[in-house]
Amino acid sequence: MENQYRKWFGEKRGKEALRVFGEKGWKTYYAETLGVARDTLFNVCLPKNVSVGLGGSETLNAMDILPALRDGSYRLFDRYNCADHFEMCRDSLMADYFITGANALTMNGEMVNIDCSGSRVAAMAYGPRHILVIAGVNKLVNTLEEAMVRVHRIAPMNCKRNGHQTPCAETGLCTDCNIPARMCNQLLITYNAKKFSGKYTLIIINEELGY
Ligand code: SF4
Repeated sequence: MENQYRKWFGEKRGKEALRVFGEKGWKTYYAETLGVARDTLFNVCLPKNVSVGLGGSETLNAMDILPALRDGSYRLFDRYNCADHFEMCRDSLMADYFITGANALTMNGEMVNIDCSGSRVAAMAYGPRHILVIAGVNKLVNTLEEAMVRVHRIAPMNCKRNGHQTPCAETGLCTDCNIPARMCNQLLITYNAKKFSGKYTLIIINEELGY
């Protein structure tokens, strides 16, 4: 059963974070549930007939957005159904819209993400005309320092999910490995979006999504 105090806390914290992100130039939307977030994405944020790139995300998987993106209403750079993943991710850098989750969002309006190849953080920094970030309230932390701790704490789970042959994918513990399979290679901090009017949108969902 859902805990009413956890939901109350999530709403307060989520809306306060959105207020701060809004002050830093982001378009912001609050969604009480995954279903509301899905409606906001497809009915408010994402126009039809645009090209769309995707960042790998458990939150987006939970939203089950792929069928709608594949139904012909969008030109999808489909990283999950392609002959050459590398080339598809390169092409995604020119998408009209790039939809992704986030590793950490601070209550001070900063976003922190860590990547293996950098295909996702590259798109989040430059290329696509619009970046749509969708995240559960569990991604919220107080400070950049906490965000850095968070992205490294969750990295072993990403290694496990993506089949990286790293020590942490076995033990669950980060050893700051120095091997070719290392996943934690590219770090992006998005400090402020004020310079890029209309580019960055954040939907915060009052649910625990991804990790
Ligand atoms: S630095 Fe290496 S051991 Fe640490 S989380 Fe990343 S891939 Fe795993």
